[in-house]
Amino acid sequence: TFDVLIVGGGPAGAAAAVYAARKGIKTGIVAERFGGQTLDTLGIENYISVLETQGPKFAAALEAHAKAYDVDIMNGQRVAKLEPAAQPGGTIAVTLDNGAVLQGRSVILSTGARWKNVNVPGEAEYRNKGVAYCPHCDGPLFKGKKVAVIGGGNSGVEAAIDLAGVVEHVTVVEFADQLKADAVLVNKLKSLPNVQIYTNAQTTEITGDGQKVDGLVFKNRADGSEHRLPLAGVFVQIGLVPNTEFLKGTVELSRYGEIIVDAKGATNVPGVYAAGDATTVPFKQIIIAAGEGAKAALSAFDHLIRTPAA
Ligand code: FAD
Repeated sequence: TFDVLIVGGGPAGAAAAVYAARKGIKTGIVAERFGGQTLDTLGIENYISVLETQGPKFAAALEAHAKAYDVDIMNGQRVAKLEPAAQPGGTIAVTLDNGAVLQGRSVILSTGARWKNVNVPGEAEYRNKGVAYCPHCDGPLFKGKKVAVIGGGNSGVEAAIDLAGVVEHVTVVEFADQLKADAVLVNKLKSLPNVQIYTNAQTTEITGDGQKVDGLVFKNRADGSEHRLPLAGVFVQIGLVPNTEFLKGTVELSRYGEIIVDAKGATNVPGVYAAGDATTVPFKQIIIAAGEGAKAALSAFDHLIRTPAA
């Protein structure tokens, strides 16, 4: 039985592991892919104190930091189910895809999230070569250039407003016949001089020169005409999906599927904490996930010292 069993090995899970292990308690971490989203990231320039690094290098450093302590790392393992303790102070059961069952006196969920893809030709080919998902992360790479934002919901319109202050020009491409973002955001967007909006516009291809993005093709859904925009970057903003499907019915989730946590990272299930992109905590960023992971570990420790084992 682990004192703290962590599910997910991204920045949140790694930080939780280091904080828990430093209390001298039995700590385990199960991860489908240690490093999480940072493995898919090219450059990271906003983790404070690290001026610049690459995603895979950052992921390796997360793992090295956890390995510097007595942490049982179970990488390449996917969790399929969580069962709350039968009584206060009892153990929480975590079942893996392969059927193995792990027990924790406390559990930290840090399974992160994934960006929805538009699934058009060019998207996968030019990912990190002009195709981006995070304006806070990659906006400054396009300073003085033209970009498009696919998606006119809240996240797309927020991204477009944000990018308009950083890049030369932003085109918003929305599939539906109107922007779905809050009116206050839409009004703000429309007030900006360097923004163009296309609605009823279905992106059909992201084009490139073989090395990097050079444009986007969309179809006008009203008249079927095809349009090509010359661009240096395309931000895909059609939704971020938390990796919490396996928790449905056990842990309380928001309507977006995010794990609902309080200020200490506690969920509605006793002894179960959560951190990072999988939770309701706003702004999905590495430094925020890491901070929340540290917080969840300290909360789990606090729970353990107050709860006699059943
Ligand atoms: P994740 O990093 O998503 O990690 C989740 C972990 O849980 C992984 O180990 C995963 O394998 C595991 N997992 C999921 N489901 C299960 C399961 N059922 N069983 C077991 N394990 C499971 N942020 C920045 O601050 N700066 C940037 O420059 C930046 N660039 C980005 C670029 C890209 C392309 C992307 C996609 C994201 C970027 N982000 C950036 C966002 C940042 O990567 C995330 O906010 C951060 O990784 C979230 O950390 P996390 O630990 O919550 O989740």
